[in-house]
Amino acid sequence: MKFGHDFKQSLASQGFPPHWVAQAIPYGQLKKCLKKVQRELQELGLDAETLKALLDSDTHSPVALNYSLNASSNSTLVRPKLTVFIHLHDGNIVDASLTPTTRQFFEKISSGAAVSHSDDEKDSATADNTADKRTDNATDTTTPVAPQTEASHHDEERYERIELPLVFDSVFFDMLLSDVSNLDALQTTEQNHLQEEVKELGKQVSQVSRPTRFSKSDMDRWRRIFELYLDAEIFFATHEREHGARSSQKALKQLQWFQGEVNKQELVSSFKLPESRTAFSKFLELNLDLLKHLQFQELNVLAISKILKKFDKRTALGVSRALPAAINSRRLLSDHVSKAVCARISDELVSIIPQINDYLCPICYSLAYQPVRLDCQHVFCIRCIIKIQRRKEESCPLCRAPVVMNASIDNLDAELEKFMKKYFMKEVKEKQRANEIERGIEEFGPGYTRSECSVM
Ligand SMILES: [Zn+2]
Ligand SMILES: [Zn+2]
Repeated sequence: MKFGHDFKQSLASQGFPPHWVAQAIPYGQLKKCLKKVQRELQELGLDAETLKALLDSDTHSPVALNYSLNASSNSTLVRPKLTVFIHLHDGNIVDASLTPTTRQFFEKISSGAAVSHSDDEKDSATADNTADKRTDNATDTTTPVAPQTEASHHDEERYERIELPLVFDSVFFDMLLSDVSNLDALQTTEQNHLQEEVKELGKQVSQVSRPTRFSKSDMDRWRRIFELYLDAEIFFATHEREHGARSSQKALKQLQWFQGEVNKQELVSSFKLPESRTAFSKFLELNLDLLKHLQFQELNVLAISKILKKFDKRTALGVSRALPAAINSRRLLSDHVSKAVCARISDELVSIIPQINDYLCPICYSLAYQPVRLDCQHVFCIRCIIKIQRRKEESCPLCRAPVVMNASIDNLDAELEKFMKKYFMKEVKEKQRANEIERGIEEFGPGYTRSECSVM
């Protein structure tokens, strides 16, 4: 009662586009249908309590039930199947635990179905493990007690296996899965739309962040923005403690942190090109859209889990576990679109501007300038290679290949050096200064500083 109301209110108040709201899970309709499912089962004498007892009962009990959900190969349809196994003695069920209505029902179906559901048919039924198991047990227990061919009609032991037709159960799952399919379609459309936007934005950002000496560029600011964006891990966490997809609530918090840092560091206000400002607004908008989408999906996934839990409470059929297992459970997750779009953001947007982390020397953790590419293809800065050569260490610190002593001036990667000068001008200058000081200390002792150098 309460959730249905909250769900409706959330859909109406969170600023979702009307065509999204139209595709939301129709919780109220599903609840109505669930009532019919419940009524149908009750008419069979199967209330939740009886169902639970019969589903839990072991293979020796006179009556047992098995419930399964079978999905079509593309997971768009699910067929629920409720099978009853009845152990008959003299054509009667003796089970004191059954309520009169339930007993009446089973007696009715077992007598009515006795002709069409023969023991032969039962033996050939191999549809699921439970059926097999029960068939085996049936043979084990019946054979010694009452050899079936010899048994007189007055002392007969028989197992019946009967499938119960459940009309509204099927209707419920048809409705639910068609809603899930509609949501999937909506997701795909939104995903394509957002990915198009990422592509457009990528073009704009590469325009305004071209590394150039002669005209204005916002490369440094965009690099800082993307660094902060990666640090924020808005939709996904990569560090160990909270690895994986974020909830929309956490994503909102991270997005606010990102925006706050960008403001604090005055990255937007110091843009040199007005186009950068436009592109940044678009970038924020894109993230907000993605967040909105995550919120919408979360709400729907919650509605599905609520209605399935209600289903289980009223019928004890265990669908909240069986359904995700039967259909492709990815379809019941909320982070599907944000995952795809975030991958696109990092591939087509963030990667436009090389990040310093990808060009660090693995020994000294500063820019690997001037880059020496060893024969094993690992890259280090020239200072670090000189140092390990002096120590006569032969193997590459990363892969242990004996390539260090072979390295010469020919191993300097000129292309990469040019690239670093272009994209990391500031870091290259810093590195050059640091190298100079290091060489000075080697030559003149630990008292060496750069200012002394200029005095000399
Ligand atoms: Zn180094
Ligand atoms: Zn190596």
